[in-house]
Amino acid sequence: MKLILLGAPGAGKGTQATRIAAKYNIVHISTGDIFRANIKGGTEIGKLAKSYIDAGKLVPDEVTCDIVKDRLNWDDVKGGYLLDGFPRSLFQAEELSKFADIDLCLNLEVDPALIMDRICGRRVCACGESYHVSTLGGKTTCAKCGKELYTREDDNPETVKARLDTYNKMTAPLIDFYAAKNKLATVVCGTKTPDEVFEAVCRVLDK
Ligand code: ADP
Ligand code: ZN
Repeated sequence: MKLILLGAPGAGKGTQATRIAAKYNIVHISTGDIFRANIKGGTEIGKLAKSYIDAGKLVPDEVTCDIVKDRLNWDDVKGGYLLDGFPRSLFQAEELSKFADIDLCLNLEVDPALIMDRICGRRVCACGESYHVSTLGGKTTCAKCGKELYTREDDNPETVKARLDTYNKMTAPLIDFYAAKNKLATVVCGTKTPDEVFEAVCRVLDK
């Protein structure tokens, strides 16, 4: 299975991606995670990406496409993969179609009014788990692995606003792009819990 996970920032792509990858035994590829790993490692790509990420803008298409194209050449993706956060522009979608044959684009539709609180209240762990402060009851460590939780640097109101603008302008057109190819499935998240969203996602993927 070759999937794309589409959705605004804060839609819960990361949370659902982890679960989908585990249940369907496919590789989870997050361009955001790749960029953050590069920033942490102090690479050239990291240095370039940081300025865009901090501003809530897209890292240039050519750089991003090269990274994904290269990643899809690894042996581990032969059994299928899930792209989380890629493509994020029409250019990227057109490029992707030149080197990959995607089965389905799963669009997570979230209420825009909830996004700001969701993202600004997000606390993440290096292991990949994420939480919302409202459910932590004052705890500051990860329930899964015990490490200290932290707030992503781009999870502040100003950057979130820019990320939403970028999503609306650059990424939202991909909904029509994949619908026109008959490859779009939308899951409406509303006020569903992550478990409930995952159930709806599985209903789509099991078809
Ligand atoms: P979110 O979906 O919550 O905004 P991500 O971790 O997917 O978080 O992305 C964080 C940032 O990394 C984005 O705001 C953007 O700057 C950069 N980024 C991630 N994926 C891409 C991509 N496909 N193209 C360009 N920039 C990207
Ligand atoms: Zn953890």
